[in-house]
Amino acid sequence: MIEQGKIAYRGKGNIYLNITNRCSCGCAFCLRAFTDDVYGASLRLAAEPEAEDVTRAIDLEFLDGPAGEVVFCGFGEPTMRLDVVLAVTEWLTLRRIRTRLDTNGHARLLNPGVDVVSVLAEAGLDAATVSLNAADPEHYDLICRPTFSKAHRAVIRFAEECVCHGIETTLTAVDYPGTDLAGCAAIAAKLGAAFRARPLVPPPDAPGDETHGRVIAASRPAGDPNGAP
Ligand code: SF4
Repeated sequence: MIEQGKIAYRGKGNIYLNITNRCSCGCAFCLRAFTDDVYGASLRLAAEPEAEDVTRAIDLEFLDGPAGEVVFCGFGEPTMRLDVVLAVTEWLTLRRIRTRLDTNGHARLLNPGVDVVSVLAEAGLDAATVSLNAADPEHYDLICRPTFSKAHRAVIRFAEECVCHGIETTLTAVDYPGTDLAGCAAIAAKLGAAFRARPLVPPPDAPGDETHGRVIAASRPAGDPNGAP
């Protein structure tokens, strides 16, 4: 039997939420390919948690002290479980706790017929960090290997809608060989979003030991498997 990984874990003064291991990308630099652990916590889930499991895990984490924000950011794409994201965001908003979504920006493709950004804004989401990772669709498909066609366009549209709904929005790109970081920054500027480049992290047997800036060892600076936080 697989041991259940952590649903909530701490890093960088925040609480991070790991609600699924499923993702609609297969990024060439995905941390999941070479580790189970972030900040010393295994994020490999035996079963996906329900909203009540997540809020219980958050309550337990707050017993250890305050957190700057609570971030949906684990070993998978959170909006594959939009119902859980919305329920937990509402629960946190009621408690006046800042919330952030780290996402690959595929939410509309994953939830057809749902006005995803509107419902996220209504639930009280404060911020979104969206993994752009490429300045053009060809490079995006090459390195992020999305299950959807025209995903790059969907990512940009998702970020644009977040900005329009007043959600604090940051686009990120991993500094992968061949990535046009200046082009990614220009897309973010055009949308009115912030931009952050993230260092490429090689596997542990190569020089360095983190990817997307996400922490493998407890002493490392935090990042996330979406290349987002
Ligand atoms: S890096 Fe993020 S978006 Fe890419 S495959 Fe991994 S979890 Fe999915």
